[in-house]
Amino acid sequence: MKIQELANHLKISKEDLLNFLRQNGYRRIKPSAKLDPGSITKIKHSYKKFIEKEQSNKEEILEEKNISFAKESIKVSELSTLFNMPLSNIMKVFLKKGLMVNLNTEINQDTLIEVAKDLSITIEIEDLTVEKEIGLKTKVLEIEEEAAQNSDLEKEERPPIIAIMGHVDHGKTLLLDSIRKSNIISGESGGITQHIGAYQITHNNKKLTFLDTPGHEAFTSLRARGAQITDIAILVVAADDGVKPQTLEAITHAKAADVPIIVAINKIDKPEANIDQVKQQLSQYDLVTEDWGGDTIMVPISAKSKKGIDDLLEMINLVSDVQELKSSSKGNCKAIVIESNLSNQKGPIATVIVKTGTLKIGDYFVAGNSYGKVKAINNDLNQKVKELTPGDPGEILGFSTTPQPGSILETKKNEKECRTHIEQIKQSEEKNLSQKMSISLEALSAQAEEGNLRQLNLILKTDVNGSLEAIKSSIEKIESKDIPIKIIHFSTGKINENDVLLAKASNAIIFGFNVDASQEAKKSAEKESITIKTYNIIYDILDDIKNVISGLYKIEYEDKEQGKIEVREIFKFSKIGTIAGCYVLEGKVDRKCNVKIIRNNAEITSTEIESLKRFKDDVTEVLEGFECGVVLKENIKLEAGDILIPYKVVEIKGL
Ligand code: GDP
Repeated sequence: MKIQELANHLKISKEDLLNFLRQNGYRRIKPSAKLDPGSITKIKHSYKKFIEKEQSNKEEILEEKNISFAKESIKVSELSTLFNMPLSNIMKVFLKKGLMVNLNTEINQDTLIEVAKDLSITIEIEDLTVEKEIGLKTKVLEIEEEAAQNSDLEKEERPPIIAIMGHVDHGKTLLLDSIRKSNIISGESGGITQHIGAYQITHNNKKLTFLDTPGHEAFTSLRARGAQITDIAILVVAADDGVKPQTLEAITHAKAADVPIIVAINKIDKPEANIDQVKQQLSQYDLVTEDWGGDTIMVPISAKSKKGIDDLLEMINLVSDVQELKSSSKGNCKAIVIESNLSNQKGPIATVIVKTGTLKIGDYFVAGNSYGKVKAINNDLNQKVKELTPGDPGEILGFSTTPQPGSILETKKNEKECRTHIEQIKQSEEKNLSQKMSISLEALSAQAEEGNLRQLNLILKTDVNGSLEAIKSSIEKIESKDIPIKIIHFSTGKINENDVLLAKASNAIIFGFNVDASQEAKKSAEKESITIKTYNIIYDILDDIKNVISGLYKIEYEDKEQGKIEVREIFKFSKIGTIAGCYVLEGKVDRKCNVKIIRNNAEITSTEIESLKRFKDDVTEVLEGFECGVVLKENIKLEAGDILIPYKVVEIKGL
């Protein structure tokens, strides 16, 4: 009998029948196949049972449910909680629809709605755009935009906020020290300097605020949390050492953040200093000095002898004038937490930099999960100050708990307002926790398909320069009118934690070619939901990129068989249920496997292992040549002579 004839007999479509057969022991059946009478009887019987079971499931969940959903996608394993029903019921719907999924598969909203419908559940999709915007745009921009909209507030010039970046040992710490000391000596202020994460100086009657943690970590970790604070980046390059890997990383970070760069060519007091060589090296990275017709300000300095420091400060004033950094000291105060800690004497303290408004002693405020009343404000000279205006840094006492760096401090009218705000934050955090945005090729591809992907950001790491250039130029040649592809950072070497930090700050995917990621990078990528993909065939990278931008990237899976087990005897226990006494004929079986059940040379079904035993003990793995007890998740009646094939579902494409 042909498939179509049997489908007619069962009153279902040919596709539905094929799907059913493929899920029930006829994995590779072709639409043109002919079935023998024995198989037909079996199929009719199992289809009848399937329908009966489905009917009873439907009855179980007759009650209609409405569930609101506010994520881009959801893991199959999370559906049980969302729908409040056993996962096995949900998996049956996937099976019926012919959707090959495992517990880790992420399904999109459309699939969710479809699957839910079969279970009499209506999914109401909540608008995601607002939250997505918050995740992508920097919080600071929001603050500034909000202030700009408030036309009642008069704008005044504010001090620029400056970060000092560059390669290790090129003199960042000494430069920060020299700038500070020269100012303390020449200025009227006294006091003992203390590290609060930022300090302020006055140069030619203009205030300048420096983030006093050298290196790009402070800057990028704030940015990764959504708070871009830096207005100007000073790139320190030692004239006796030239451009080094971290110099390039710093350039990448500053460019990704769209922050103007001033280059400080340091250590010019050294006899081996070669200023022109530094300029020449930097010109290869699009930083061309003004005296060679470019537009990058480069100032030769010596952090040691303090030569050129005044010129550098002058240039900072100039760049900040051009940027027209303005803010209002009136209205609600918003500030960014840049450092925080729990002090033995002072309790939770945090350094903030004010973005708009004025922060005064006695003000009530919220900052992330923390709130409080400003008890005292200290500056970096350990002096008490009464208030902070835009661009000012200060250490604040009076927090209920230590706030997260990167969080926004916002003043409120009274304690009650603070508490209400915190309650709202907690609720939305709980919601957000379950919908942490992950940056995966599949997610980006889905965004591209929906027309929501504006740019594809990539970080490229390779083993050698030759492959780096080859892949870069091939990527640049990919035609993508609607979605520009931007390689925001590329270099040779292992994928490291900084790459992950940059990927997080810029919504980028990390591609490695013939290189692996360090353990730390892997861990932090997993924590931050960043995708690292490694390749050893260039075309695979290009294919994946093309598929992502055309919205076609899909992950494919295959079953990887691990061994072969024979069921030898069935034992029944009143408490545990049925245990199959088995023998591992080939390979191995581990506790987290799925198993296919083969009877009379045909696969009858597949399920998961509930537990695996050696004698009375639960074990995680049993190897070839050993006996074991197997308990299956579903109540499937095994028989002596059945063969179990343990397998894992593995991705063959994508991460
Ligand atoms: P960082 O790792 O970039 O913070 O570098 P440091 O500020 O710690 O400086 C590294 C070393 O270079 C220290 O021994 C400094 O004293 C020295 N150094 C920094 N700037 C200069 C400079 O302008 N001239 C000379 N001769 N040495 C410098």
